[in-house]
Amino acid sequence: MLDTRELGRRPGSQREVSLTVPAPPDLGIEVLHVPEGAPVQLDLRIEAVMEGVLVTGEAQAALEGECVRCLEPIDDEIDVRFQELCLYDDQVAPGEAPEDDGVSMLQDDLVDLEPLLRDAVVLALPFQPVCEDDCPGLCVECGARLADDPEHSHEAAIDPRWAGLTALKQDED
Ligand SMILES: [Zn+2]
Ligand SMILES: [Zn+2]
Repeated sequence: MLDTRELGRRPGSQREVSLTVPAPPDLGIEVLHVPEGAPVQLDLRIEAVMEGVLVTGEAQAALEGECVRCLEPIDDEIDVRFQELCLYDDQVAPGEAPEDDGVSMLQDDLVDLEPLLRDAVVLALPFQPVCEDDCPGLCVECGARLADDPEHSHEAAIDPRWAGLTALKQDED
């Protein structure tokens, strides 16, 4: 929770805040996420506007996951920017909570940073993370990681469907 009371609800007043918070659980997607408890560096600018507080920020954290093609662990970093307008909860009529993306509510002039961070991180992650852009994945026959062994091959087993054709061809000859 980030306290915005120092801004005194005076439109135009602003403050820069830097803080490090431990990553909440499930920050990211199953195949790529910020490890729970890992430090998330936040650099924020909070600015009072007429109807609330505009939060503009940047978050940096380590990422952990695995390549969807070859299952190698991925160690990466994420650096995301986000902006959210947080409305004063006592100036919005009950039942009129905003449903727009990029708009949320202050609670007693406190900003809940977790959903902002979660949205920004999830949006920035690739759905199909790979260790290298051209990761060739795994051998369909033996499961070996092809990037480690590009020359990898197997004795071509003759597919039974083709074996029949081969026999026909021999009959013709
Ligand atoms: Zn890979
Ligand atoms: Zn193989």
